[in-house]
Amino acid sequence: MFKKAFVTVALTAAAVLTPFSAVQASAQPAPITAAAVNVYYSTASAPTFRSVIRQGAANWNARVTNVKLVENASAATLTYREGNDSRGSYASTNGHGRGYIFIDFTQARQYNPTRIAAHETGHALGLPDHYSGPCSELMSGGGPGTSCTVAVPNAAEVSRVNALWANGLASTKSDVWTTTIFDPSLALALAG
Ligand SMILES: [Zn+2]
Repeated sequence: MFKKAFVTVALTAAAVLTPFSAVQASAQPAPITAAAVNVYYSTASAPTFRSVIRQGAANWNARVTNVKLVENASAATLTYREGNDSRGSYASTNGHGRGYIFIDFTQARQYNPTRIAAHETGHALGLPDHYSGPCSELMSGGGPGTSCTVAVPNAAEVSRVNALWANGLASTKSDVWTTTIFDPSLALALAG
């Protein structure tokens, strides 16, 4: 499995983001109000992954109702980048639509790239990692291994994001904190 250091990072991020189960237990159904707020994103710096980023965003948009990912480079608060980083892919984000997502070339050859893009986008929408989860859970990331190709959030993840965005862009956490959530490859973790 993943190195202990990585688990620590994941737990820290989870703590900052409020434990999944605690919020789930108290979450009320999202109020039916105005249309979803938009989070504008740019793929200008991730041309190789443009199509998978768009597919990942579409997978979220098809399921969540309180926030919508819209590609618009000039208005973007969320940008995607690509390159090589031995730490793997990661999200540097406030968890509420701002920041940037880095997609690692090597990792994207090992794992399903659309799953990577959708997973990292999940961080930008406020979700922490849960590597011990099943393949059907998007935020289990690389935990289920390279064979997992699920790139859509499950019902619990959709519910959680809707709750986090029930007040639109007005979040008590917005702009207050930013964290970087690394998603190391299973192979790298084992090698290390
Ligand atoms: Zn992650």
